[in-house]
Amino acid sequence: MVHRYSSALKIFIIPVVVTVFVFCQNSLAQTVKKKHHKKTVEIPAIAPAFKFTTVIIDAGHGGKDPGAHGSYSKEKNVALAIAKKLRRALGEQMPSLDAVMTRTTDEFIELHRRDRIASEHKGNLFISIHCNASPERVSDERGVLLLVYGYHRAGEQLEALRENSSIFIEKDYKEKYSGYGQNDAINTIVLSNFQQKYRKECIRFADLVNHEFKKEDGRHSLGVKEQGVLVLQQSTMPAVLVETGFINNPRDEDYLNSTEGQSEIVQSIVRAIKKYKESFED
Ligand SMILES: [Zn+2]
Repeated sequence: MVHRYSSALKIFIIPVVVTVFVFCQNSLAQTVKKKHHKKTVEIPAIAPAFKFTTVIIDAGHGGKDPGAHGSYSKEKNVALAIAKKLRRALGEQMPSLDAVMTRTTDEFIELHRRDRIASEHKGNLFISIHCNASPERVSDERGVLLLVYGYHRAGEQLEALRENSSIFIEKDYKEKYSGYGQNDAINTIVLSNFQQKYRKECIRFADLVNHEFKKEDGRHSLGVKEQGVLVLQQSTMPAVLVETGFINNPRDEDYLNSTEGQSEIVQSIVRAIKKYKESFED
C-alpha cells in the first residue's frame, strides 16, 4: 500500500508540483522583466546639455602636396589663406568659440594626423577647406561644392579620389588606411560605417553653408554630395569639406585669390556656423 501510494505520488503529485514551480518561475521572470523594462525606459530628469565650443579648421594639402593647380596659384596656398581668415573672423565674431587649425604653415600633414588633431581638441565640427579642379587644364566648370562622407555611386566620386590622392605620398599609407588603393576605394567606404552616425548633422551643416554661398554671394553651386572622402571619414565629429571654387577656371581662380572673394567665402562659412551653433541653443 505504501509502495502504491508512493507510485501515485510520483505519477500525479510530482508533475503538479513541477508545473506549479515552472509557472512560478515564469511569473517571477516576467516580473523581473517588467521591472527591468520599466527601468530602461525611464527618461532622466536632466539630459546633459550639448555644448558647441570648438571648430576645427583644416586647410587642405600643404608642403609636398600642392593639391590642384590653377594657371598661377596652388590649392594648398589658397586653402591656407582662407583657413587663416576663417580663424581670424571666428575669433572676432564668435569669441566664445575655440577655432583650432590643423596646419598654420605650408607643411605636409597626413590625413590621419588631421583627424588626431581634431579629436585631441574635442572638436564639435570639422571644416576642411579645398579648391576643386576639373581634369582638363582649363575648366569650364565653376562654383562651390560641399562634400560630406557617405555612400555614393562609383561614378560620382571623382572629387573624393582626387582629394584622397594625398595619401599616396604618405609613408605606409596601405597600413594606415586599411589597404586603401585606387581599385578598392569602394571596399574601404563600405567597411567604414563609422561616420554614418554623423551623416544627418554633416548634411545639415553643408546645406547651411551652401545656402549662404548661393543666397548671399550669388555663387554657382554644384550642391551637397556624399562621397568617400578619407579626411571626413576619419573624423569623430560632423565633418564637411568645402570646395570653395574651381582653381583651374580663370574666373574662379581670380575670385579665390582675391581679398574680396576670400572674405565672402569666410563670411558665408561664419554665418553658417552661427546658425548651426544657434540650433543647439533653442
Ligand atoms: Zn583638395
